[in-house]
Amino acid sequence: MKDYDVCVIGAGYGGATVAALLALSGRRVALVEKTLVAGGKAQTVDRKGYRFEMFGAVGIPARNSRFDELVEALDIADRVPFVIPEGEAASLRYKAVSGEWRSMYSALQQTGSADEMDNLRRVFDASDEDLAALGRLYAAVLTLEGEDLAALEDVGMLDWIRPFGLSAALVSQLCMNLNTLFVVAVDRLAASEAIYTMRQQVLGGVGRYHVGGYGRVAEACAEYVVERGGVYITKQRVERVIIEDGRAVGIETDEGQLHARAIISNAGIQPTVLRLAGSEHFPADYVARVESLEPSWAIAGCRYVLDARVFDAALIPIFSDQSWLDDERFARMEAGDWPDVPLVAIDVPSEFDPSLSPLPGHQIANCQMFCSPDPDSPMAEEAIRRGEAVIDELWPGFRRHIIRREPYGARQISGLSRDSVLPGQGGEAVGLAQIVGQVGRSKPDARTPLPGLYLVGCDAGGRGAGTHQAVDSGFNVAAMVNDDLG
Ligand SMILES: Cc1cc2nc3c(=O)[nH]c(=O)nc-3n(C[C@H](O)[C@H](O)[C@H](O)COP(=O)(O)OP(=O)(O)OC[C@H]3O[C@@H](n4cnc5c(N)ncnc54)[C@H](O)[C@@H]3O)c2cc1C
Repeated sequence: MKDYDVCVIGAGYGGATVAALLALSGRRVALVEKTLVAGGKAQTVDRKGYRFEMFGAVGIPARNSRFDELVEALDIADRVPFVIPEGEAASLRYKAVSGEWRSMYSALQQTGSADEMDNLRRVFDASDEDLAALGRLYAAVLTLEGEDLAALEDVGMLDWIRPFGLSAALVSQLCMNLNTLFVVAVDRLAASEAIYTMRQQVLGGVGRYHVGGYGRVAEACAEYVVERGGVYITKQRVERVIIEDGRAVGIETDEGQLHARAIISNAGIQPTVLRLAGSEHFPADYVARVESLEPSWAIAGCRYVLDARVFDAALIPIFSDQSWLDDERFARMEAGDWPDVPLVAIDVPSEFDPSLSPLPGHQIANCQMFCSPDPDSPMAEEAIRRGEAVIDELWPGFRRHIIRREPYGARQISGLSRDSVLPGQGGEAVGLAQIVGQVGRSKPDARTPLPGLYLVGCDAGGRGAGTHQAVDSGFNVAAMVNDDLG
């Protein structure tokens, strides 16, 4: 049996961040991961010489982010160089009401320039009045702070948008962006979270990436733990949290036990409380609350290696006015009634870092559509079928260039991240849904009621979009645990 200050279960972005920051502050840390590499849902893997993003590929914001703070705090910038494509690296495809497909190319950071306004006029038929309404909305996004922003945690984002009087096409563009950022219904997405992240997006741009893959920063965090005298164990699943005298004191894997003064779990609040620790160790009302928490949706998609540069941008959202999703539209999709265009987001990591491919000119891409987080749901297959039909329409001949195709959905996401311990849960793309009733004051505390057991990652302790929320949580939980350990 080995003793540590802290054991961290899981090396997703939350776990890797908290482990590295605690190692930086002198704690002896054991980081235990069930898969081969760090990064969780954002891990990068090697396949026959190609570097692949398993799922998510880019961060928002690109600059001025918690990632910058992390890289600086650990002094690892030379190991994980930041890259961002120059020029018009984003390109959206919008199907207008007339049925015509329209394209818009732009830089990864918007400036509000005259050219951008002209593009909005051309693609979304925006009038001067529409643009003025959009300007008022963004002015509010940039000024809402502190208590005023926090007061919006009980307001759904669609209700917040409505009084600005945007045209249907501009609502589509905005809601499409919010769906892809948070992977939840825009009517229940908490306005406080949405506005906070939209502001980061305006000020820092989109498309954070690191040479070697998006998972590289998590890998560097795990290496850092070892350099600071801790251990990083891969391919070992934590089977249970050891509890003695009403306190979490260690973890158990197939290979044995590790003891520590603090146990931090990145395995998801529901798997941690209901399976790893066991609900009998928590108050009944806490268990009931944990069971009632709603996950984000999942994402179904395909990873591709293409033998040519098929896609002409790094980030390509594809949508119509029917594509963005509130609760009602998602329920219709679940029941088999799909929109004319399912919302498709194509990320092309090789446009950020061409060295991901060993052969020049080959492209690595990932297309993503929304589906149920239930690993047993058949929705993923249908989402992929419909998403690829849209890609066929826009890039005829695209299939001729596929030299590798890997479909995935909620089941694969669950396999690489959190266990499914409740019906309809496990494959969530983000973590806990950032909806009204589950954010701000209503978000679960990273300190669980079981002394010595903490949560980290997208279920507690942070805010922001996807990996940024996980890293933010890592910072906050590291400070919390340092305080508690004294
Ligand atoms: C298809 C897809 C696309 C996405 N796109 C983006 C994007 O472009 N940008 C973005 O910012 N975010 C994106 N996201 C979301 C983002 O990847 C996640 O929100 C974020 O990575 C979650 O981090 P986390 O720390 O909460 O935990 P996770 O990534 O879930 O990591 C949990 C870790 O714990 C490990 N673990 C779990 N149980 C155990 C156990 N019992 N023992 C040992 N280890 C265990 C897992 O293996 C995993 O490594 C995407 C997600 C998906 C699925």
